[in-house]
Amino acid sequence: MFDDLNDLYQQVILDHCKRPRNFHELPAATCSAQGHNPLCGDQLKLFLVMDGQTIKDISFLGSGCCISKASASLLTESVRGKTGTEAQKMFETVHQMVTTGQANDELGKLAVFAGVHRFPARVKCAILAWHALIAALKGEGEKPVTTETDEM
Ligand code: ZN
Repeated sequence: MFDDLNDLYQQVILDHCKRPRNFHELPAATCSAQGHNPLCGDQLKLFLVMDGQTIKDISFLGSGCCISKASASLLTESVRGKTGTEAQKMFETVHQMVTTGQANDELGKLAVFAGVHRFPARVKCAILAWHALIAALKGEGEKPVTTETDEM
């Protein structure tokens, strides 16, 4: 499945998949949300510590394919210190990237997922953690978000 992906990007994804960053529970979490992608079997839970509007700390736990884990891992690194509004904007940019392959400079390391658009079944894996993040920020963490209702 990785044949078409740029080697460097592939290495970053594999690294984050094998050694996910911030992969633990946050006992001090002020909000959390779960994501489930039934098409692939990916499940994850995000934990956020909010300081006003700012994401002070973030972590995740879960199991799933390499893309979903790497995406969640890179997400936690990317949104820490950002505001909810900034995170929402990043979600929109990432969503656009994984569906069209268009990356921009703002994305930084997240650009490694640009190649995912060529594998439509993997788009949901890559975006799952982002859906969970938005649900957590909106305080909709009670009910797991699933990618089934996601229109792509
Ligand atoms: Zn997956």
